[in-house]
Amino acid sequence: MMRGHLFVLSGPSGAGKGTLRKALFRSLPDLVYSISCTTRPPRHGEREGIDYRFISAEGFEELAVAGAFLEEASVHGHRYGTLREDVERQLEAGRDVVLEIDVQGARQIKRHFPEAVLLFVLPPSLGELERRLRTRGTENEESVILRLKNAECEMGEVGDYDHSIVNDDFVRAVAELRAIVKRYREQRPTGRGGKEHDLS
Ligand code: 5GP
Repeated sequence: MMRGHLFVLSGPSGAGKGTLRKALFRSLPDLVYSISCTTRPPRHGEREGIDYRFISAEGFEELAVAGAFLEEASVHGHRYGTLREDVERQLEAGRDVVLEIDVQGARQIKRHFPEAVLLFVLPPSLGELERRLRTRGTENEESVILRLKNAECEMGEVGDYDHSIVNDDFVRAVAELRAIVKRYREQRPTGRGGKEHDLS
């Protein structure tokens, strides 16, 4: 059995990577999303086990010490991590897995899996990123400022990624992301193609 591909999606908070990822999954539903663990409290509307596994700082530390994370990082004052077992199992079963993680995590993944495909979502500009973070309304002022500050550092890492996608026009950006994913999938021998839906 061929191992699946590992796709890593990063980009500053507010660049729209979550929305892009959801649109990608509607279009290519046989992709597997790795649900991260986080110590961040849930936002309004977020669901346990769907958006994240929301765990305590102590619980996170126990998992970290036990080596349960494939990668983990502190981001915007909270800890986030990808569970090793989930990802390994899916890849072994030949499924393509998508991680939506920050630049520190992406670096760790690339070390363990040099064949992982690193994708970076860029906002059209920092000004537009600020506007999106504010209109999204999920963050308080302190968090907006922190996320903007981190965005500049994160965007400095785009050169280490295999592909970057500017999220200026959403429909175009989804099509670009989908085309990249499909290109990697098609490099595999035939008979491994998945179910597909139109984006429309
Ligand atoms: P948010 O709090 O906005 O959901 O996520 C904040 C940042 O943490 C985003 O850049 C997101 O991609 C990243 N993140 C989410 N899950 C993980 C993870 O498991 N590992 C790492 N390293 N970063 C993550």
